[in-house]
Amino acid sequence: MARAAHSKTIARRGLMLVLSSPSGAGKTTLSRMLLTVERNLELSISVTTRQKRPGEVNGRHYHFIDRRRFDQLKQKDDLLEYAEVFGNCYGTPRKPVEKALKQGRDVLFDIDWQGTQQLRERARDDLVSVFLLPPSSGELARRLHTRAQDDKKVIQARMAKAGDEMSHWAEYDYVVVNRDLDRAFNDVRAILAAERLKRERQPGLSAFVRGLVAQM
Ligand code: 5GP
Repeated sequence: MARAAHSKTIARRGLMLVLSSPSGAGKTTLSRMLLTVERNLELSISVTTRQKRPGEVNGRHYHFIDRRRFDQLKQKDDLLEYAEVFGNCYGTPRKPVEKALKQGRDVLFDIDWQGTQQLRERARDDLVSVFLLPPSSGELARRLHTRAQDDKKVIQARMAKAGDEMSHWAEYDYVVVNRDLDRAFNDVRAILAAERLKRERQPGLSAFVRGLVAQM
């Protein structure tokens, strides 16, 4: 009986944690850190029509597909959301997300504001959105150059786009300024911890409390 009262046995529905930011604000590093420590969190792997960068692995960073395949997925309604970013198409495969949420697992999304808007329209109750801001424009430029995976023209385009992306900060539930990576990491973990405790995310609570009361 004491075992049944342990919180791990309370049925819960997973949540969708969206992390958006302009490129270079530290989103990828932060996502990696979160996935290392948060065992109940899995990454949604997007499909994209963009070229693979050095070091990227198909099926791990993205599913790299061509435009024809992308259009097929869109038509079959197999994408939970999709958008065009920097002239390439990106989208979130629906099935893995739905499966994870049903099993009580949380899903992390590294998607832009357009995708977040679509998720908000389609799945408001499951969504927790976090916008990550760089501490300054100089720091953002420095990070984009250090990354140096893209050529100069791409970097310039990304800087120009950063302003656009950042103008959507107010649409997000939470905003974290990434001055210090460890601090930002702890902030996002705190958000996740609090959101997991929301009553409506724990459909097993009624049965749990009934059990508790019955034992009184
Ligand atoms: P990158 O090409 O640098 O990997 O990603 C470019 C932008 O596309 C990033 O802002 C990233 O968050 C966004 N992105 C990646 N996957 C998706 C997706 O499935 N949907 C949407 N809407 N944006 C995505």
